[in-house]
Amino acid sequence: MGKQTFVIVGGVAAGMSAASRIRGLKKDAEILVFERSNYVSYAACGMPYLIEGKVSSSKDLVVYDSRFFKEKRNIDVFLHHEVVKITPTTKSVLVRNTETGEEKEYSYDRLLISTGARPILPPIKGLNLNGVFTLRQLEEGIAVYDYIGTKKPKRGLIIGAGNIGMEMAEAFSARGLNVTIVEKMPSILGSMDDEINEVVEEELKKNGITLIKLKAVVEFAGENSVVKEAILEDGEKVQADIVIIGAGIRPNAEIATEAGVEIGQTRAIKVNERMETSVTDIYAAGDCAEAYHLIYGRNVYMPLGTTANKQGRVAGENMAGGDAKFIGVVGTSVFKVFGLEVGRTGLTEKDAMREGKDFVSNVIEHNSRAHYYPGGAKIKVKLIADKRSKQLLGAQMVGREGVSKRIDIFATALSAKMTIDDIANLDLGYAPPFAPVYDPVLIAGSELLKKFESIR
Ligand code: FAD
Repeated sequence: MGKQTFVIVGGVAAGMSAASRIRGLKKDAEILVFERSNYVSYAACGMPYLIEGKVSSSKDLVVYDSRFFKEKRNIDVFLHHEVVKITPTTKSVLVRNTETGEEKEYSYDRLLISTGARPILPPIKGLNLNGVFTLRQLEEGIAVYDYIGTKKPKRGLIIGAGNIGMEMAEAFSARGLNVTIVEKMPSILGSMDDEINEVVEEELKKNGITLIKLKAVVEFAGENSVVKEAILEDGEKVQADIVIIGAGIRPNAEIATEAGVEIGQTRAIKVNERMETSVTDIYAAGDCAEAYHLIYGRNVYMPLGTTANKQGRVAGENMAGGDAKFIGVVGTSVFKVFGLEVGRTGLTEKDAMREGKDFVSNVIEHNSRAHYYPGGAKIKVKLIADKRSKQLLGAQMVGREGVSKRIDIFATALSAKMTIDDIANLDLGYAPPFAPVYDPVLIAGSELLKKFESIR
């Protein structure tokens, strides 16, 4: 076989992981990455901290630039190049240079669609006013940072109380803004349970954040094309000099659909564990693709950076002739909001009820360190387990320290299909500065066991 050509559409977490993996396995292949924005390989997750000022430069969020990829890995990155069409019958892509408008066709032997996702724009009038932002691409993060620096907004409004909404509330607050979050659903943080949400809401309140639930914004009104206020569905007005729309994301799957690639029920690209799509020699990975959920037992749409990197690597390995598998996710995520760490993995009680599971749940609070050792804090843990098998279904945690890594114990337990008995008997590390003798993880397990015994 002659020199193979690998084409990658979208050059961030999934795309560049794949490109690098292909290069590692195929020294002489041609690898072409088309990226329609100005950056590749950047850490979108770091944008709230750039805006807050904790990360001093947007350059710090760029892991490697296009020059690095050419010089060190011989990967050709085309910035400002958008793939507008994929033609599987001729195994080619049509690429438009977004600066010149010029279009050119490129052939591929194997293609990766790693086009990511885009923010959902709710039906609000005035979305085009200056000062209304979405936060997805690095350019947008830089624009928000610059807007705060130059326009000096005083009142920040965040639409949507998800993880990014929480991180942005903290970022705005650190920049001296008065912050309001508007969430149209009855509760914050998606399907997280009330016992966790109430702690987060208290933290928001303590830090001066106004949270408005169960109301949708219908209009942004402005002066001289600059946003000044948001009008809610009941007519209430919220003053705002800057707005972030954080109402969720949708997979960029259109070019895949048009190419005849099968789309899953989640509206993301359907893939198997090798990250192959329904079309031969076309792979997909990252936020444009589905992921198999080990607890639900079906494909889901849970777009996260950690998954995008791993799926990209698996896709790259298989595109280069390997046999790698992405076994799936258990739905683990963590975030920080002011002094709190919040984490979840697997199913919440709301999820379990929606799935019609027969389950037992319990909530405990326990110290993060030995009670006599200074600096500790309470951690709240909620566990959910299958009523018949006692197998763990999910865990949620909130506290001032020690949450983000402890949740990984439960993520591991979910992957290993452990029961609550297994969890209550884990051999976890102990020393006073890090944990009490009985870690909150063990207490959560043993208290849930007691509940099982009481209902037997
Ligand atoms: P993307 O990062 O979306 O990249 C896709 C790229 O494809 C884009 O640059 C786009 O320009 C390009 N593209 C699209 N269509 C075309 C086309 N037709 N032609 C050429 N190029 C195209 N995840 C976590 O796990 N933890 C976190 O703490 C976390 N925090 C986050 C905070 C913020 C503010 C944001 C926005 C995201 C966060 N994420 C986090 C999610 C994480 O950033 C994404 O899951 C990850 O970036 C997905 O990578 P990707 O490569 O699949 O897609």
